[in-house]
Amino acid sequence: MQVSELPKATRVLVIGGGPVGLTVSGLLSRRGVEHVVVERRRESQRAPAAHVLRRRPMAIFDVLGVGDAIRSAAPRLRMDYITWCTTLGGSEIGRLDLRPVDRVTGERPEEPWTNCPQNRVEPILFGEAVRHPEATIVRGAECDAIAQSTDRVLAQIRVHDGTKHEVTARWAIAADGASSATRRALGIEMRGAGPLARFRMVHFEADLRPWIETRQGPIFWILNPESPGTLIVHDPARSHVFMMPQLGLDEEEQTIPARLDNALGITAQPKILSIDAWSPHVQVAERYRRGRVFLVGDAAHRFPPTGGLGLNTGVEEAYDLVTRIADVEANAAPESLLDGYESARQPAARTNADASFENLLKLGEISRVIGACADLSGLERRVALLTNEEREHLGRAIEAQRGHFLFDGWHPEERSAPNTTHELSRLGRTPDERGSLHDAAATDRPGD
Ligand SMILES: Cc1cc2nc3c(=O)[nH]c(=O)nc-3n(C[C@H](O)[C@H](O)[C@H](O)COP(=O)(O)OP(=O)(O)OC[C@H]3O[C@@H](n4cnc5c(N)ncnc54)[C@H](O)[C@@H]3O)c2cc1C
Repeated sequence: MQVSELPKATRVLVIGGGPVGLTVSGLLSRRGVEHVVVERRRESQRAPAAHVLRRRPMAIFDVLGVGDAIRSAAPRLRMDYITWCTTLGGSEIGRLDLRPVDRVTGERPEEPWTNCPQNRVEPILFGEAVRHPEATIVRGAECDAIAQSTDRVLAQIRVHDGTKHEVTARWAIAADGASSATRRALGIEMRGAGPLARFRMVHFEADLRPWIETRQGPIFWILNPESPGTLIVHDPARSHVFMMPQLGLDEEEQTIPARLDNALGITAQPKILSIDAWSPHVQVAERYRRGRVFLVGDAAHRFPPTGGLGLNTGVEEAYDLVTRIADVEANAAPESLLDGYESARQPAARTNADASFENLLKLGEISRVIGACADLSGLERRVALLTNEEREHLGRAIEAQRGHFLFDGWHPEERSAPNTTHELSRLGRTPDERGSLHDAAATDRPGD
C-alpha cells in the first residue's frame, strides 16, 4: 500500500528509499513488521549506477520474490569478456576471458552474476515494497533531524508539499546513502580514505552492438591518453555510462561531448542523457549502530566501484539487520541480538572495501606495461609494436584482474543467510516457492 500521509508512530522508520532501503522494506513486510520509509526523491533514480548483482544478494532478492523480475529486466548481454582498448573502435590491447567452463563436462555453467542496472532494479524493488500493508512508503519526504530516548526514536520529516511531521518509531534504519545526514547527526565517523579521485559519469544512449557483439561484456577500459576512462555497457543497444576523470576546468561540461567521442572513436553519435560528478572513497563507518538507530548500505560504507560490491554488501546487511529486528519485535529474541549486527557485518564491509581498493590499484599494472604515450596515435603505435615479452607481461597483468570480477564479496558466518526452509518460511515463502535460489547461497550456512 502506498499512502502519502505519514503515521505519527511506527515500529521501524527507514530513512532513504534507495535500493537498500527498499530491500529493508520488503524484508520487514515479509516478517510482518509495520514500518515507514521516507525517501527524499519523488521518483526512482535515473542513472544506471550499480549493475553487478552477485549470487548472495540475488538469493535475497529471490526470498523477496523479485529475483526473477530482476533477471528478466537484465539486458541481453553476455558476461564473456572484460576488454582493454585504445578506444572502443580502436586497437584492442587485451581481454580477460570470463567464460567459465565446467572442467568435467566442458559446458558453461550459469553466469556468476546478474548484470542488471540499478535504474531497472529500483522500480522493481519499489513495486514490491508498496504492495504490502505493513509498509508506508512516502516519496518526496526528507528526514531533517533525529533524536532518541531509551525506548523511542523521534524524527522530523519534511514533505515536498511543505508540511512538517514528527514520527516516532521503536527503531530507525539509516539507508540514506554515502552522504548520510543521519550518520553525521549520530556523530559516527567514517574510517578510511577519500576522495580517491573525481569523476564525471556520463550516461549516454547509443547503439554499440557492432563494437561489442564479438566481445560481449560489461566493461571496456579505454586507455586513449587524450580521453581515458571506463565504459560501462548497461544495455548494448542503448544505455551506457562513460566514467571519465574530472579535469577541474571551468568549462568542463562543454568538453565532455568531444571527450566522449574521442573515447569511443566510432561513427555512432552518442546522445548524452545526464552528467553527474562522483568521487570514490574507501571508507567504513566506525560504528554501525548508535542506540536505536542502525546504518545500512552506503550510509555504512563507501567502496570504489572496482569490484561492484557496494550495493551487494548493502543488500546482505539489510537481510541480516531485518532478521534481527524482526526476531526482537516478535519477542523471539532478546534485544542483545541487535548487538551482533555490527560484529557480523562491519568486518565484511572492511574486507570488501579493501578488496575494492586492491582491485583499483591492480588495474594500474596494465597501463604501466604500456607506459606513457602523449596522444592516441602514440598509443596506437606503441600497441602495434609491443614485443612478445611485453605481450606476455600484459597477459599476466590482465589475468591478475580475474579476482576483481569473480570475488563474490566476503561473507561472515551470518546467522541469517537466506537458504534454509526455516528462513524462507519465516519470510513467508514455502520451500516450493524457493525456485531459483542460487547454490552459492546454500553453502557455508552454520544454522541458527
Ligand atoms: C558508477 C557506479 C557503479 C556502481 N556499480 C556497482 C555494482 O556494479 N555493484 C554494486 O553492488 N554497487 C555498485 N555501485 C554502488 C551502488 O550504486 C551503491 O552501493 C548503492 O546505490 C547503495 O544503495 P543505498 O540504498 O545504500 O544508497 P543510495 O542508492 O544512495 O540511496 C540512498 C537514498 O536515500 C535518500 N536520502 C538521502 N538522504 C535522505 C533523507 N535525509 N531523508 C530521506 N531520504 C534520503 C536518497 O535520495 C537516496 O534515494 C556503483 C556505484 C557507482 C557510482
